[in-house]
Amino acid sequence: MARNIPAPDILAPEALGPTVCIGEILVEIMAKTPGNTILDAQTWIGPFPSGAPAIFIDQCGKISGNAAMIGAVGNDDFGRINLKRLAADNVDISGIAVDPDYPTGSAFVRYQKDGSRKFIFNIAKSAAARFAWTDIVSRVIARAGHLHIMGSALVMPNIWPVIEKALKILKSKGGTLSLDPNLRSELTYDRQIQTRFARLIEATDLLLPSGAELECAAAVKGENAALQSLFQRGVKEIVLKRGAQGATCFQSGKAPVNALAFAVQEVDPTGAGDCFGGAYVACRRMGLPLTDVLTYACAAGARNVTQYGPMEGTGTRSQLDAFIQTTKRMGK
Ligand code: ATP
Ligand code: MG
Repeated sequence: MARNIPAPDILAPEALGPTVCIGEILVEIMAKTPGNTILDAQTWIGPFPSGAPAIFIDQCGKISGNAAMIGAVGNDDFGRINLKRLAADNVDISGIAVDPDYPTGSAFVRYQKDGSRKFIFNIAKSAAARFAWTDIVSRVIARAGHLHIMGSALVMPNIWPVIEKALKILKSKGGTLSLDPNLRSELTYDRQIQTRFARLIEATDLLLPSGAELECAAAVKGENAALQSLFQRGVKEIVLKRGAQGATCFQSGKAPVNALAFAVQEVDPTGAGDCFGGAYVACRRMGLPLTDVLTYACAAGARNVTQYGPMEGTGTRSQLDAFIQTTKRMGK
């Protein structure tokens, strides 16, 4: 009788080593009231630890305790806020450089009346963008099992050689790559960034787009055509995030798996996608069934939007279990 051998999973298992994220570490400062400009003097809250890659890895570390961050902060309190938070949430921070010359990166955000966001980023001219392949980076990558990249990180030119080298080392030992396009209209994606993004897609095992990012990532119009094109390029799994409409997991040749969002009162949407991704990758690598992975990811995204501050609502596995037990799903 033929034995039922499980198909190899799409992400490297936990045992291969930590999930590593390379990218920007920022503080976020939020206007207290909504409005369409940031021209007038107003009241701000923060600083909150932030940066999409840092939020992702914080959520991943909180669930799995098997996560590491590569990036840079300045030798200032904004940097210390991030180091302290990530370390407290089980993220290995040994790959984070403290830059003596540049301040920690920042994002000022004001919600507009229609719910969209207006950002002022200081990334390119801050410590956040000061990447180099160093001994500390090399040691973290030598231990790693999986790499996660946010597309927004590609606006920092120095990150590319670090990503390329890390990817080569990881893939040669059976490691895997997840990519969240995380396109931001305030950031400029020139021809070189687009080429690099396309090269990352070729190496991506798991893609985590939201809304129109799916078609942008594929550079193909239409949801189905975009999915097929990405599968042909070697992407193994695509999880489309749909905000309060939940999420859908697509695998080539299989029926899509839908997950309903949790019904919550949204107070601050920033970080939902990053928390979703951090929980998804952590749980997928832990070998949980796909529906459970989606449930944890939707819970992490939903829980995070109930709190002010992009990283304030990340959850441990037991916090997410409690949230799942006490929160209704939309449409149920
Ligand atoms: P980000 O703004 O962080 O880039 P994103 O656009 O990448 O977010 P979203 O689709 O907004 O990603 O959110 C990710 C997931 O979080 C959703 O699939 C959903 O499960 C959950 N989520 C986000 N917003 C809400 C909400 N208002 N109510 C319930 N769940 C939500
Ligand atoms: Mg996003």
